[in-house]
Amino acid sequence: MHLKHWGNCLSLIKTRIGIQSFTTWFKPIRPIEYKEKTLTLEVPNKFFYEWIEEHYINLLDEVIKSVLGKNGKIQYLVSKNGKVEKKLNEIEQKFIKVSSPKKFNNLNERFTFKNFISGKCNSVAKAAGKRICENPGDNPFNPLMVYGDVGLGKTHLIQSIGNKISKNKDLAVYYVTSEKFANQFIDALKENKLKDFTKFYINIDCLIIDDVQFFRGKAKTQEVFFHIFNQLNLNEKQIILSADQSPADLNGLEQRLISRFKSGLTLELEKPDFETRLDILNHKIDNDKIKISKDIVDYIALQVETNVRELEGVLISLLAHSTIIKKEINLELTKSVINKIVKNTKKKININYIQEIVSKFFSISIEQMKDKARKKEIVIARQVAMYFSKDFTNNSLKSIGFHFGGRDHSTVIHAVQSVNDMIDTDSVFRNNIKEINKRISSMG
Ligand code: ADP
Ligand code: MG
Repeated sequence: MHLKHWGNCLSLIKTRIGIQSFTTWFKPIRPIEYKEKTLTLEVPNKFFYEWIEEHYINLLDEVIKSVLGKNGKIQYLVSKNGKVEKKLNEIEQKFIKVSSPKKFNNLNERFTFKNFISGKCNSVAKAAGKRICENPGDNPFNPLMVYGDVGLGKTHLIQSIGNKISKNKDLAVYYVTSEKFANQFIDALKENKLKDFTKFYINIDCLIIDDVQFFRGKAKTQEVFFHIFNQLNLNEKQIILSADQSPADLNGLEQRLISRFKSGLTLELEKPDFETRLDILNHKIDNDKIKISKDIVDYIALQVETNVRELEGVLISLLAHSTIIKKEINLELTKSVINKIVKNTKKKININYIQEIVSKFFSISIEQMKDKARKKEIVIARQVAMYFSKDFTNNSLKSIGFHFGGRDHSTVIHAVQSVNDMIDTDSVFRNNIKEINKRISSMG
């Protein structure tokens, strides 16, 4: 009897998914037994049923219900060296628990291109990522290696690629951190399932491996990954990698692996500039409908220049605080939150930063500050920025001049004198200087 039931299920499934997926994932299943509305299926290995279960959970659920009736259920058996290992409870529980169509690609649906804000720091990487989605595997960016410091969007970007491919193509996409990969590998070794492990990986169409620096010093893991990498590459499957350093700096990784990593496109995600930080903040504020004044958003974008994760952290924390103490988000609260979140990454005050603050204060652009304009308010802003650069940094007069459009050191001396004179004679100016001083020193 059970054979017939499964046959009916298969006929239904066949009409719903691609022939390749069908052959890969459903053909190898053997019906074993049908009892009390429960159909027992034998699958080749554990990866297999995990894949089916998570990837095709909705489809299977639906098909089983329509063939076996409303109380119909499936249980899996995993074949093990000819013997059959029962995995009943675990699977049943999962089957019931997983009601949402969470796919077994390990991707977080939150990570999309749409909410990946681009700026100078990442636009090339984003464009390359989108391009890969058109022809995964068959493009000049294979493998794609994205590297950069923590919190700059590596995971977000590579998962966006996975999500888009998953959505638009009938391809097996799989995201895994190298840490998890290494653990799976060790488990497979222990359980004598290395073959299954490799088989699982070489059947993937788009493999995304995050934080490959974790492979450092793990010779065995590197070896098996090298093998998988080559197989996928040979079959023109897409590979996407991330690391916290450029391939050249990934010491502790085998040379042959590094040269594979470099064989496609290698891109760095850089720190976002002020404009991009503002864009990112505003995007999140709009999305989450956070009530916050423009001045405060500017202030956060100015102060938090480390990475996107900290930008987000400040927003979330502000939101939490203001909800708890039922107060609106004001500058005082913002400062204290920033101090808590960003204090570990205290930055050095540098000329760029001073230019940012001063240009903001006088509402002129940094470019204007650097070029030849002789309009009075621009000249004053330029002199003030020079004055603070002398005050707050260890740069030589020559180097300061250089940062202001290549002016010479005598211009800097003159600027410092003028500012001192104005402080003595003009009280409005004096207060401005105090305020700017406060803003510069309040960082970190
Ligand atoms: P990484 O993997 O480089 O450490 P993540 O991808 O985890 O960084 O990014 C940290 C956080 O910042 C995530 O919540 C991510 O969504 C967000 N993020 C990073 N880059 C951007 C961006 N360009 N636009 C919007 N959000 C971003
Ligand atoms: Mg990451």
